[in-house]
Amino acid sequence: MTSALLTLNAGSSSLKIGLFPLVGEAPLARGLVDRMGPDAILKLTDAQDVALPTSGVITNHFDAIKTVVAALRQRWPDLDVLAIGHRIVHGGAERSEPVILTDDVLAELTDLAPFAPLHQPHNLAGVRAAMAAFPGVPQIGCFDTAFHRHHPWVNDTFGLPRFLYEQGVRRYGFHGLSYEYISGEIQRTAPHLAAGRVIIAHLGNGASMCAVRDGRSIASTMGFSALDGLPMGTRCGQLDPGVVLYLMDQKGMTAAAISDLLYKQSGLLGLSGLSNDMRTLEAAGTPEATEAIDYFVFRCQREVGGLAAALGGIDALVFSGGIGENSPFIRSRICESMAWMGIEMDPGRNAGNERLISRDNAATRVLVIPTNEEVVIARAAQAILRSNQEVRA
Ligand code: ADP
Repeated sequence: MTSALLTLNAGSSSLKIGLFPLVGEAPLARGLVDRMGPDAILKLTDAQDVALPTSGVITNHFDAIKTVVAALRQRWPDLDVLAIGHRIVHGGAERSEPVILTDDVLAELTDLAPFAPLHQPHNLAGVRAAMAAFPGVPQIGCFDTAFHRHHPWVNDTFGLPRFLYEQGVRRYGFHGLSYEYISGEIQRTAPHLAAGRVIIAHLGNGASMCAVRDGRSIASTMGFSALDGLPMGTRCGQLDPGVVLYLMDQKGMTAAAISDLLYKQSGLLGLSGLSNDMRTLEAAGTPEATEAIDYFVFRCQREVGGLAAALGGIDALVFSGGIGENSPFIRSRICESMAWMGIEMDPGRNAGNERLISRDNAATRVLVIPTNEEVVIARAAQAILRSNQEVRA
């Protein structure tokens, strides 16, 4: 019997799937369904990166799971899926740990959908599809907000009347699974830094930064929604709320049109008029692409400064995410005027995407740590399976 667990990350038109053993962190297989619908693309590979043959029509999450699992069963005919871990963007104000998704918990998470309307409903659609495909198998929710639940109150609130805070208008923070993974890596490989003041920059299509002290998030650039903070591929980042009022009052824009503008047409895409993709912008060299990069870099520098103030200093800056892990150019642009914070890049190490990219004698360590959100989900599912077995024993 090949006992294993699945990790699922369900988006509006995509589904990432991982197959993990019950012990250990190396995936047995990975799958990505993109452009869910009549033209869906499915890529499924085993641990050696060899493509696994797949067949089937994929129009929704349920089809996607069935198709992937059918392909996995061709490879492992005795496959027994014992648990399924899900990435869920919003766990609300209280949830700081993964949880088994009972009907009650699902109802609670459904009520949070208005807080994350572009993500939560799709995440939960993935959960329901997995429940239908695997009745009786424990489903475990892992939340992007959970890592931030110990923020001091000043980093958890806005300057709004208190009743709105009580009603859930708070700075939740996101990308928590990524920050949890990276904090764990720092703990594992550099325990002296883990006890210190660390800023993690998760720079991908979605981008945020997190201030971590003693392995705990104390502040992050994303707030109530995944719009705040850094400019992103298509999201605006920090914005004066007066702009939203102006667009409504003076330009007659509806909430839906403003949502589309802020989530899908802004950030690198909106500023460059060309692309949301940093590689494309780096190669383009147009004045608009250059200015879009300048803005991204400038906002990153400002946030590093702000988070360092929140931490009372900085011992390490960690780059992660597609841009942070792969772009020596952006990393060096962000770090170029930060010698005053002890941040001094070693150009050779940076060009080689090495793990440590600061100079040996620099006061602040600068690291590149690839993130791995799936492993965090797999660990949670493994832990819950273990505790279930202990209860039964
Ligand atoms: P997501 O938030 O969707 O998970 P990723 O973490 O995959 O996004 O990051 C995607 C971003 O990383 C894109 O802007 C892409 O251009 C950028 N990226 C990936 N590789 C490179 C590279 N070598 N140089 C610059 N940017 C890169």
